[in-house]
Amino acid sequence: MKNKNNFYIVITVSVLMIALSVSISLINFMVSLHATETDLKTRSLPLTVDNIYTEIQKHVIEPNLVASMMAHDTFLQDWLINDEKNREKITRYLETIKNKYGMFVAFLVSEKTQSYYTQNGFLEHLSSSKPDNGWYFNFKKVQGDNEINLDFNNNLDNSLIMFINHKIYDNNYHFVGATGIGLKISYINDMLKRFRQEYNFTVIFVNEEGQIILSERTDSKIRNLSDSPELKSLSDQIIVKDSKILEYQKNGENYLLKTKYIPELDLYLLVEAKLDDFTQNVRRTFYLNLAASLLVTVIITFIILFMIRGYNKKLEFMARNDTLTGLMNRNAFNDSFNEFLLLSKRHGDPLSLIFFDIDNFKTINDTLGHQVGDSVLIRIAELLKTRLRRTDIIGRWGGEEFIVGLIDTDQDNAETIAEILRRAFEEDTRLIHLAPSPVTASFGIVTARTGDTIDTLLTRVDSALYRAKALGKNRIETAIEH
Ligand code: GH3
Ligand code: MG
Ligand code: MG
Repeated sequence: MKNKNNFYIVITVSVLMIALSVSISLINFMVSLHATETDLKTRSLPLTVDNIYTEIQKHVIEPNLVASMMAHDTFLQDWLINDEKNREKITRYLETIKNKYGMFVAFLVSEKTQSYYTQNGFLEHLSSSKPDNGWYFNFKKVQGDNEINLDFNNNLDNSLIMFINHKIYDNNYHFVGATGIGLKISYINDMLKRFRQEYNFTVIFVNEEGQIILSERTDSKIRNLSDSPELKSLSDQIIVKDSKILEYQKNGENYLLKTKYIPELDLYLLVEAKLDDFTQNVRRTFYLNLAASLLVTVIITFIILFMIRGYNKKLEFMARNDTLTGLMNRNAFNDSFNEFLLLSKRHGDPLSLIFFDIDNFKTINDTLGHQVGDSVLIRIAELLKTRLRRTDIIGRWGGEEFIVGLIDTDQDNAETIAEILRRAFEEDTRLIHLAPSPVTASFGIVTARTGDTIDTLLTRVDSALYRAKALGKNRIETAIEH
């Protein structure tokens, strides 16, 4: 019953602790998850987009200025107007520009002759029927004075080239040609790679048609937004001038997408983050927290179990034993002796009781102090434990009265044992050391007869002890059998 109660207490405490730690961990997990997502949406992704945009602007501003300067250069204008004489001059001009600003190409197109010049001199005559020349004919039609074109250079190493084209006008504001520069933009690729490696972001640029113009070369599996069903369904929201943050699922995973229109390139910048990559740590912390709290719960459960067991043992001992001497108390002795009585009746074995009381104990207490009195009691108990058999039961009846149950012992044997005890007290050096006059005790002895109960035996042994006291103490008296 008691153990069952303990069990319920331990189970309840453990369940409550587990519930507490699981709910705290769970709340922490949810809060961290939310914080990570919010941080991605409001800080990391927008910052990345801004960084990329700033970097692109930085790389576009200078070349754009150079191209603009070329378009407004009177030397170029005059050379075109004056029938393109002396091609060497223009070659040198373009070469100087190319080298001075570290461009990949510096070019000039004459509208009158449709000639295309670079720093290497005349290259070709442009024709609207050649797909490679399409850019020039499109450029002529655009509203503004300049444009940026991203093109793969098919002649060379197929690297991506950014062309900055500017229109050239004569004094009457007639279109006379186009000039500009082209530069390799491997830095964009490096930048995209860096964002993937450092931040786990995938960065791509798409044009108005959803075509992927720029992406890190390693992940160019899709060429158009429409190749991915998830992105296709979002393309209405991606291909807009406003910057957006979009959420979608792909292969059961959650993704966040930040978009921004880059007017300089007329492209849409998309930065994609897989949510799982960013919540991994949060999840790991959650599992760790959970494991740690479960471990602590198990440890605490064991500690509680051990403590309860310890207290129970102590309580049980205190309920059955005398705290000063460690001997059985009156209740425990009664229980044990009743069992002895039953056994002796069944087997017909003799059973005896010794009841003794220390002589003049009050004097010991009064003259030497209570503490010495206690020491005497403790020593008496020790002597009892060492002089008696393991099967005998010993109890402290109260005060300085002790009781011994002797199994399988008749009256003669009981007298012998009582005499051993009487002498042991009288002669014990420790007791002699404690008190100046010898510590003695008076003994009563009784042997059970048929029909005896513990009460009848106690009545008789008590009168025997009384007699021993009356006859001068430090002696043994046997109960008189009628
Ligand atoms: P008698 O020889 O007739 O037995 O005289 P007595 O002085 O031994 O008997 P009495 O009953 O007058 O005194 C018993 C004393 O034992 C009184 C009580 O204060 C003391 N006593 C009882 N329990 C303890 C205990 O646990 N420690 C100590 N130090 N004294 C105790
Ligand atoms: Mg006494
Ligand atoms: Mg007494």
